Amino acid sequence: MTYRECYEKGCLALQTAGIEEATLDARLLLEAVCGTNRNDLLAHGEQLVTPEAEEKYLGWIGQRAEHIPLQQLTGEQDFMGLTFAVNEHVLIPRQDTEILVEEVLKQLHDGMRVLDMCTGSGCILLSLLHYSNACEGLGVDLSADALEVAEQNAETLLDAANADRVHFLQSDLFDKVEGKFEIIVSNPPYIASAEVEKLMPEVRDHEPRMALDGTEDGLHFYRRIIEEAGKHLVSSGMLFFEIGYDQGQAVSELMRTEGYREVQVVQDYAGLDRVVFG
Ligand code: GLN
Repeated sequence: MTYRECYEKGCLALQTAGIEEATLDARLLLEAVCGTNRNDLLAHGEQLVTPEAEEKYLGWIGQRAEHIPLQQLTGEQDFMGLTFAVNEHVLIPRQDTEILVEEVLKQLHDGMRVLDMCTGSGCILLSLLHYSNACEGLGVDLSADALEVAEQNAETLLDAANADRVHFLQSDLFDKVEGKFEIIVSNPPYIASAEVEKLMPEVRDHEPRMALDGTEDGLHFYRRIIEEAGKHLVSSGMLFFEIGYDQGQAVSELMRTEGYREVQVVQDYAGLDRVVFG
């Protein structure tokens, strides 16, 4: 088949399967398989695709039609201008989370130590290290499989001179954490269990449940992290969270009750509450 025939077959299969962005995904998968970009595909639409590429492409289209997220097929997702490896063991980095990283960057100074709780792919921590000069980072997660992905990302994204600025630790929240930090940041699982069931199949059935499910009211991990973080923050330290659009008040209250001062809620570009810090 030619590029064009492949693309058209891919579009049709994804549209038939009810995939939301069928044509976009068909193109992105073809580009990923053939190592080309959009302009090449347009300019060389009548060029034949190698049999290997065709087979791989149609395989991916079949999997995408079963609602497997595109990023789990290509194995990557861009975040903060960096390309992160992902697989089924980590939450796919979301653009919304860039707001959290930007808020932390405003407060990050040379020599600070940063803890990223529930680090997943490591996207938050590694972006912070990439865009700040002299801070050190610890990424914590309960999942050993997720930490493998984070380690891999650290290897690709930090050059040899900076590799020892980051460490990862398998721990149930703060259980095995030692020492104090200037900044603790977290994008914990925060979706109420009943709401997880209503998510699109790509997320509900293919992203790790443990990265999404914040238990009955969605606030379980905020409560635990807020309670335990104080022991690991220096006295002027700061705690940053990503939150769901309707959790700004609840999480601010939890922080104030625990003694955090200057608690603020930050909105995302859609005008929704997205970050709380104090
Ligand atoms: N920290 C990672 C991210 O923001 C993973 C978050 C999670 O698994 N809840 O993408």
